[in-house]
Parts: sequence; structure tokens; C-alpha cells
Amino acid sequence: MLLPEPSERRTAPEAAEEPGVGRRPRWRQSPRSDDARRPRKVRMLAHVPEHRQARAHVAERARDVRDAGEAPPRDLAEETFQFGPEVHGATSRRGPHKGSARAIPLCGLARSTRPVSLLLRGGWVLTQNARREVVRGDVLVEDGRIASVGDVKGGADETIDCAGSVVLPGFINAHTHVANTLLRGRADDVPLERMLEVAFAADAKLTRRDVQVGALLGCVEMLKAGTTGFVDLFYWEDEVARAVREAGIRGFLAWTVLDADKTTQRGDPVKNAEQFVRKHKGQRLVTPLVGLQGVYACSEETYRAAKDVAEREDVRMHTHLSETRVEVYEHERRTGMRPVEWLDAIGFLGPRLSAAHCVWMTINEVRTLARNRVAVAHCPVSNMKLASGGVTPLPEMFREGVAVGLGTDSPISNNALDPFGEMKACALLHKATRWDASVLPAQKVLDLATIDAARTLGLERELGSVEAGKRADLAVVDLWRPHATPFYSDTLCSQLVYASRAADVRATIVDGVIRVGDGRVVGIDEAEVLSRAQEIAGELFG
Ligand SMILES: [Zn+2]
Repeated sequence: MLLPEPSERRTAPEAAEEPGVGRRPRWRQSPRSDDARRPRKVRMLAHVPEHRQARAHVAERARDVRDAGEAPPRDLAEETFQFGPEVHGATSRRGPHKGSARAIPLCGLARSTRPVSLLLRGGWVLTQNARREVVRGDVLVEDGRIASVGDVKGGADETIDCAGSVVLPGFINAHTHVANTLLRGRADDVPLERMLEVAFAADAKLTRRDVQVGALLGCVEMLKAGTTGFVDLFYWEDEVARAVREAGIRGFLAWTVLDADKTTQRGDPVKNAEQFVRKHKGQRLVTPLVGLQGVYACSEETYRAAKDVAEREDVRMHTHLSETRVEVYEHERRTGMRPVEWLDAIGFLGPRLSAAHCVWMTINEVRTLARNRVAVAHCPVSNMKLASGGVTPLPEMFREGVAVGLGTDSPISNNALDPFGEMKACALLHKATRWDASVLPAQKVLDLATIDAARTLGLERELGSVEAGKRADLAVVDLWRPHATPFYSDTLCSQLVYASRAADVRATIVDGVIRVGDGRVVGIDEAEVLSRAQEIAGELFG
């Protein structure tokens, strides 16, 4: 089905009418003469086989792509990065749209700017510093970094009145597949294997532009929820990188490596990852990583090759690990060792690595992760929704000194990219299964979503707390809501974990730049993003 003509295209008035914070003081923004315009651009992604049983689907998917006459994923070497409206032009998965002159800008509203200085005035500052101090006062941002916290004299280029709000470090989503927003709702109430069937069938039909839109949709969702950074595992990460730059969020993007006979990537996945890393190293918002799908899709040779690239390029690695019993038992049957034991034996584990899930762990495996300083991305909602069984042993990980961050996993298995929902579910899951209401207190849960998540990336000195000298990645959450009132200075943490919602986020600041203001995303036409995503979903599943 072709894209509908513009006049027929669905609009999203609900997005344009995002409720503001009625009683809240409006922004006071001073005119600036040196607006540093952010480059605009974007593009797309895909999915990777996550289970041996899915190999047949991969082959089928490749046939689908050929049958559809669609260009398969191109090597990065063929990729030309074009930042401009042509990126957003109308090309459907069935070829150029008749009205392809119709260029649909996904951006073009108020441009995001980098103020020389920004003052967050008069809020409750949840610093997340080493003493976990709560400060009633101001946060001054200068040149993308936090300049001071407390009582700030004087003004700034821009000021946000934070009375009645909490100022905290922006959330860091430690594991997701952001472009899978397009698959949201298409594989509910089924286990992982069934979910993957749906994902692969849809994935075979995705175009790069679809991935652009899906990733941008996810970035908008995260920013509006106070998330300032995320770890993504996928291929076509170059398309996700475009969305990251478009949205102005911080992306830690892991190009997925897996065995050549299990992927639809054109060319060698290891080389693709290496090219991606080389192209994106040193960027302000995009940090490239080497990704690995998991032990069910990666041989020892693949693990070694990926690690070589990461060491040579001095970047981190990210992978799935011990998500399901099937994965663990099958690997043990095949190799005689559980996944963590095997990865340790082949010399893969190390401080560069963060591993998502780690649900099916023995205490010895936890100790092995600790000894190798491997970090973990805990994804409680996804694990519960897919009925993976078992629970990531967080108390044991904490006891052994494993760094743990909180992640949402894919929008097809969650289905939201919502740090508030994830935090609450995380707290409740562990209390319920340990029969201990104190096992994971609210403060620790907030740590997992902020400073501890930064630690899983080795960036706890740069991100994850509101302290002078750190990057200015911040969220401002309104407490003046029916579900969050009353509040007290000594319960703000609990308030955020157990009562607050993503829609309470008034402002999100990334690297000193306001990306969400008064609850509205800045610099992106949100209604257009929603409209395009709905169109694509109609083509994929309609
Ligand atoms: Zn995942």
C-alpha cells in the first residue's frame, strides 16, 4: 500500500495538544544571538535474530526482502550521510511514492539551542551525589556542564522556574532496541520465541527510512519521560545515530555482531561494526559500541573478533546474556558450560562489557561477572512480560560488587520506554519475590536508573548525578500533580519511584540543551513523527 497523500494522512492532534503544566510558571527565555543550530537528520534500523530456533525465520526473512525487491541493509561503506529534508522524503517500502516531491520534514519547529548558560531556579535537587543529598536551590549550567548547585546568584541566558519540581540527573536506559517502537503492541502475551517470529517477519519489510522514524519516535518518547541517554543494540545503528542527533539525546549505540550465517546484514557483521565505530567515535552525543547478540548467535570466533575490534578501537561492548532458561540449557548442552562460564573460559569477559538481562545466574556466575568487572543491564518489565521466569539476582550482584543499571529492553517486549514504570516494576518485583519489603529501597532503584546506569558505561564521573563539573543531562519532574501530592523533602525519592509518571516531566536537558520544555519536545515536529510511525505501522501490519 502506498503512502496516503498528505491530505489523507493521519494527524495526531493529541500529540500537538500535549497538556502543559497549567499552573506552572512559563519559561522565561532570553533572546539569544548565537543560536548554535543543531544539525538535523535521521534514518533507520532493524532487528537481529535472538534465538537459535529463529534461524529458519532469518532465512525466510531474507527471501521476503528479495521477493519484495527491497534493498537489503547496505554496508556502512556504501552509506552516505545526508543531513537534510531529503532524508525525510516520501519513499515507501514499495518504491518511491508518486508524490515523492513531498518532502516531509520531521523537524522544523522551534530549533534547539545551546545556551551559554541555563539556570534551573528554586527546585528540589536530587543530586544523586555520593551522599545522596537533596538540595533546595538552583542548578547553573554553563557550556553543557553543571557549573554549580545550590544558591546561585545572578541570572543566566535562560531560566527555568523549578518551584514545586524535582531536578534530578536524566535517566539512562541501560538496554533497548529503540527502533522497535514500530512493532509495539504486535507481540503481546506471548513468550520470547513467538515475539521473535513477529519481529522478524516485520523486520523483513522495514526500510531504512522506517528505522529512522521508529528510532526518532523512541527518542521522543524517552526524552519526554526524562531520559537523557540510552544504550541501543541493533544493526543499522547508523540510522539510529541519525535519530539520536535529530532528537539531541545521548546514544550509546552498539552495532550488533553475530555469526555470518545467522544474519541478514550485508557483508561481515564484525567489519560493519568496526566501520560504524570508526565513523562515530569522538562525537558529542553518539558513542559507538561493539554489540553482540548472544551465545545462541555468536561463535567463539565471533566473540574474539568483536573483542579485538573493541580493544583496538578502545570502545565498550554490549550484549544479551542468560535471558532465558532455553538459552542457558541449550548452551550448556552444546558446550558443557553455562554461558557466563563459557565466556569467561574463552577470555571474553572484562570491564568493557555490559550485559543485558543476566536472569538465569548461579552465584558462581555472579562472582565471575564481578571478578571480571562486567556490568549488568536489568530489564524487569521485559523479563516478566515474556515470562522468562526467574529474576535477575540483584541483591547478590550488589553484594558481589557488580555494577547494575536499569533498562527497558525493546518496545515490543515492554512496551514502553518509561523509566518511571520500569523503576516501580523493578522495586515491586524484587520485594515480591524475596518476601522482603526492604530488599530494594526507592533510593537504590533511582540509583539503578541514574548514577549506577552511568557506572555500567564507565561514565560515572561524567553522567548520572547533579554535581558541578558533570555533563548537564537533567530532568525536571513536576510534583504538583494529584497523584504526587503531598510530598516531603525526605520522600522525594519514593515519590519518583512509586508515584510519579513520565507525563510529569516538565523539562529534559541534554548536554546543556533544552530538549523538552514545558512538557513539549523542542526542535522536532512530534505530531509528524507520530503520524509517520502510524503510517508505517499500517503498511507493516494493516
Ligand atoms: Zn534486548
